[in-house]
Order: sequence, then structure tokens, then C-alpha cells
Amino acid sequence: METTSTKAFGTEAAETPLKGLNIERRVVTENDIEIEILYCGVCHSDLHTARNDWGGTMYPAVPGHEIVGKITKTGSNVTKFKIGDLAGVGCLVDSCKTCESCKNDLEQYCLNGWVGTYNGEDKHLGGQTFGGYSEKIVVKEDFVLKVPANLDLAAVAPLLCAGITTWSPLRHWKVGKGSKVAVVGLGGLGHMAVKLAKGLGAEVTLFSRTPDKIQDAKDLGAHNVVISTDENQMNKVGGKFDLIIDTVPNIHDINPYVTTLNTSGTLVLVGYLGPLDPFLNSAPMIMGRKSVAGSLIGGIAETQEMLDFCGEHNIVSEIEIIKMQDINEAYERMLKSDVKYRFVIDMATLK
Ligand code: NAP
Ligand code: ZN
Repeated sequence: METTSTKAFGTEAAETPLKGLNIERRVVTENDIEIEILYCGVCHSDLHTARNDWGGTMYPAVPGHEIVGKITKTGSNVTKFKIGDLAGVGCLVDSCKTCESCKNDLEQYCLNGWVGTYNGEDKHLGGQTFGGYSEKIVVKEDFVLKVPANLDLAAVAPLLCAGITTWSPLRHWKVGKGSKVAVVGLGGLGHMAVKLAKGLGAEVTLFSRTPDKIQDAKDLGAHNVVISTDENQMNKVGGKFDLIIDTVPNIHDINPYVTTLNTSGTLVLVGYLGPLDPFLNSAPMIMGRKSVAGSLIGGIAETQEMLDFCGEHNIVSEIEIIKMQDINEAYERMLKSDVKYRFVIDMATLK
């Protein structure tokens, strides 16, 4: 298959910093779109993958799944986009399209395995897929999103992962006017959860370990902030929430949050991936018909729905623009929760 050499930024091993490297991209086939990447958000999953936190990273790894840019080429069968259009790509670039999940617009739960934008199995070239820390990307039309023209493009990029990952559970658990929603952690995902829940009409509370973020959370639309390390404050919100979205990236005790759910309430884990420690106590769950659930990004149709909603409600991410060359420092700051509230790479700096 014909390919073109493409500038990218990535890493050859878990222990080494990211640096400039060249990758091969396929030349557009009939159903593909080529996008010149203008901005790419920096998700905590990028860091988890670069450093092999979850195991299974294939090297070289080129992260980045919050991609926005301009279309530079279209295949002969492409109908929904034309050269020059703005476009977005999130965490998914392919799925089987035939299984029950795909037929229900849940490509992220494809029963035959979806293809991640990075560290997925490249069905065209073999080896792994490479993400958005690069000058361009080639993606099947069906996995490309339309970007609302009225929003700041750089600040739209994080919607492609942080936005949809928090939108999907808000929609699945039917959050609307008057719903009582809480968000754990004010980072990339957390701040989008606050904005989107507020946009849907919910009363939003933030759980944070960081008193410095109280004012920001209120400015973003939270009605209330609970400092999660303060037992008194935690007790005051016992039995209160219909839905909690927990975005914490590391292992942590979720039992104190379960007690803040009301009867039939649900805590959805979107951050930490792995066994819980300490154990989850079933008693408050049984006594109050409470659930603990998980959720993975969102399907393509739902991602478009979220982008359109953001266009209508003028919702974007709070961002700090960085140069590609500053990515390693950005990762260190992300580990210290020192990001307000999403780094976005200006891809012009890679050129
Ligand atoms: P982030 O920007 O680093 O934000 C995480 C926030 O969690 C921090 O700002 C901090 O908020 C809080 N936090 C961090 N460490 C904590 C700890 N040890 N205990 C309690 N709170 C802690 O990360 P992100 O990009 O939002 O990603 C969050 C997680 O979601 C990552 O693990 C990422 O891989 C995962 N993710 C999942 C999906 C999915 O589909 N399910 C999609 C994308 C990302 P405070 O300072 O307010 O406490
Ligand atoms: Zn992500």
C-alpha cells in the first residue's frame, strides 16, 4: 500500500521522553479523508499509553486522540466532507460496523474490537495506529466528525475525548433539568463534565482535593464544591446525588462517594481502570439500590450530538496552548494536576 512519510512526536519506550520521529501514513483510499492537524489535545490516556501504565503499549507510540484540523484530501467515495472543511477525530478510527454494538451506534463497545486512534491495530498497514501528535492523519470518513464553525477550534479539540467521555454517561443516565450530578476531580474530563452537566440543566457539585480550584469550579458552572478530604463536608452531601462521574486517573477509595448517592443513584467510573482497593462495600448499594458502573468514550453519532450541543450552547474546553516540543513538561504538570484544564498542542510548532 502506498504511504507518505509524516512528521510526528512520540516515544520508543516507556521510560524515554517523547521526541520528533517520522511515521508512515497511508495515501487516502476511496473511503478515506486526510486531515492536516491544527490542534491536538493532551489526554491523561496519552500519558498512560506513552508510559505503558496499562500494559500493551506498542512502540514507537504516537499519542493524541483529540484532533481537529482541515481536510486536505478526500477519497472518491467520500460524500459528507470536502477539501477545506474543518474536521475532528476522537479516540476511534474504525470498528466492525456489523456487530450488535456497532449496529446500535456503540462503536466503542464493538464486539469484534474497535480500532483506537493510537495504539490500535492498523488494518491497512499492519502494526499500530499513530495518533494526533503528528502533522496529518488519514481516517475513514465514517469516523470523522463535523466541527461547529462558531467555536474556537483549539478549544474544541478536547471535546473529542474529554467531552464525549463525560457526555456519554450524562446522556445514558438521562441527566436533565434538576438532576443532581457530582463530578470527582477537576481535570480535563472533570471540567468538561461540569460544563456539560450544567448545559443539560443539572445542579452540579464538584468533589476535589484541591481548594485552589473552588472558584474555578464555580466559574465553570458548579453550584457547590466539596473538598473530598474533609469528612465534615463529605457527610453534608450524604444521599444527595443521582449520578456521580468519577474521573480520577489513579486507584482511590470510591466507598465515600457511594454514600453520597441517593436511592437508585449511580457512580460511573471513567478514570481509573483496574481492580478497586479498598474493596467496594456492597451494603450501601443493596440498602439503597445504588450502582457502580463504568463508561468508555462514546460512539460516533453520540460524539456528533455532543459537538452540535456544544456549538448551540457555546461550550468549549478551558485550554493552555503548548508547543509540541513542551509535551514532556506538560506530562509532568498533568501528573501534579497542574493544568487548567487541558493542554492543547499547536501543531504548527511541529513543522
Ligand atoms: P487529568 O486532567 O489529569 O485530571 C484528573 C483529575 O483527577 C485531577 O485534576 C485531580 O483533580 C484528580 N486526581 C488526580 N489524582 C488523584 C488522586 N490520586 N486522587 C484523587 N483525585 C485525583 O486527567 P484526565 O485527562 O481528565 O483523565 C482522567 C482519567 O480518565 C485518566 O485515567 C484517563 O486515562 C481516563 N480516561 C478515560 C476515558 C474513558 O473513555 N473512560 C477517556 C479519556 C480518559 P482535583 O485536583 O480536582 O482533585
Ligand atoms: Zn482521551
